[in-house]
Amino acid sequence: MSPLYIHGEWAESSGGEKIAVHDPTTGKEIRSIPSATERDVERATRAARRAQNDWQRRPAKERGDLIREIADLIEENVDSLAETLVEEQGKTRSVAAYEIRASADIARYMAEWDRRIEGDVVPGSAPRQSISLLRRPYGVVSGIIPWNFPISVFVRKFSPALVTGNTTVLKPSELTPLTTLELTDLIHQEIDLPPGVLNVVAGGGNVGAKLVSDDEVDYVTMTGNVETGKAIMRNAADDLTRVSLELGGKAPAIVCSDADIESAVSHIVSSRTVNAGQACTCVERVYVHEDVHEEFQPLFVDAMESLEIGDPRDDPDMGPQVSAAEQDKTQRAIKQAIEQGATVLTGGIEVSDPPTDEGHWVLPTVLANVDQEMDVVKEEVFGPVAPLIEVDSLDQAIEYANDSRYGLSSYVFTESYRNAMQITEDLDFGETFINGSGGAQQGHHIGWNESGLGGEDGKHGALKYTQIKSVYHNFQ
Ligand code: NAD
Repeated sequence: MSPLYIHGEWAESSGGEKIAVHDPTTGKEIRSIPSATERDVERATRAARRAQNDWQRRPAKERGDLIREIADLIEENVDSLAETLVEEQGKTRSVAAYEIRASADIARYMAEWDRRIEGDVVPGSAPRQSISLLRRPYGVVSGIIPWNFPISVFVRKFSPALVTGNTTVLKPSELTPLTTLELTDLIHQEIDLPPGVLNVVAGGGNVGAKLVSDDEVDYVTMTGNVETGKAIMRNAADDLTRVSLELGGKAPAIVCSDADIESAVSHIVSSRTVNAGQACTCVERVYVHEDVHEEFQPLFVDAMESLEIGDPRDDPDMGPQVSAAEQDKTQRAIKQAIEQGATVLTGGIEVSDPPTDEGHWVLPTVLANVDQEMDVVKEEVFGPVAPLIEVDSLDQAIEYANDSRYGLSSYVFTESYRNAMQITEDLDFGETFINGSGGAQQGHHIGWNESGLGGEDGKHGALKYTQIKSVYHNFQ
């Protein structure tokens, strides 16, 4: 499989090193593809530049129609795309199918913005003057994708960028390039996109860095971890290239004294363990009011313990971690918490009866005797590990929840209108879920603080790919 899709054609790498893609369930190599080189990135960004003017000048509805066709194409190929996704990322079959369907939904939603990009007309300051504020694309957008939702993030970046008149060069994660290349090939075969509008280059961090520093790139949209985001921002500073960064999280869940406990348990367990705990929105720390702690803890431990772990092709509750390195990071976080005084209520480091010998397994783990200062409460843990902390008041829960360098998702469980309103007002997070979980395309997924700069989905996720141009009309 070629790693490069440039100017509407598959192309060979000009000599990049091999990227080996592994199946997280078996640890075996599935495929090895050559990485793009810096020279290849230049070919791709130049192709995007050449295509941009004509693309921008097309009627917006024609751009939207092509994105709608891509949405249909994704829906027609859910099963085959999901199969590849399971194989390279280790998602369970139903979560993989959900991700593919969600990708179609993203494309369909963003296509709706084709005829909805509006500007403003405001009065001038001189006699017989009017001012138009127009929205224009940036030009060439590069998209840098993580491995945890490889296909939905790919679609989440190119759909709004293309609909608003930009052209794109996107890079999947080196861990999970295959589903992206498969979808790109379907688009290549079936959709009449003008050459150069959508380009794909596979490779690792060095290819990503070139997608930031390249002279032809006007805007970088990246999803990944905080440290990579900071490196990208530094790299972009020289040319003042615009960046939009969707980064890691450390989502708190607050369980109030008047919460529906069964519902809270069910939402928190599924949020903490979806995609084996590898989602930026996962609940990563649970603050439980002392009045309900005794009721909550055993139900929560039981629910985590009873999850079925296994080969994602059999669609259990949870599959493996994506790689040995991610498994190791999660295990180290558990070990460190134990060394700092936490006790394991279920799960832990050892997996006594792993579904496969070489898979990257971590058990759903609940930690008690955790205090606010421990690393497991402070730093993102991208695995199914839930530290529980008892709190004596809502104020204390809010104070602990806000005591974080992250600010992406947050969760609250309460039956009281007053609590819900107070928490919504006081939590310093880009998104707060009250008595539920799971976002929607028309909302806005945004990280505050070190969780990001920008945001995706909804009106604001579409408009961010435009910049404002002021035109002064003098007609006296
Ligand atoms: P990562 O930062 O390691 O990699 C993300 C992408 O950046 C990859 O394509 C990688 O090759 C590339 N990259 C690495 N170094 C680079 C550099 N110096 N310059 C440019 N590109 C570079 O992240 P990951 O491990 O793939 O993804 C997991 C992280 O992503 C977690 O922290 C998770 O919370 C976060 N995430 C955030 C969101 C969100 O919407 N906020 C969504 C999904 C994942």
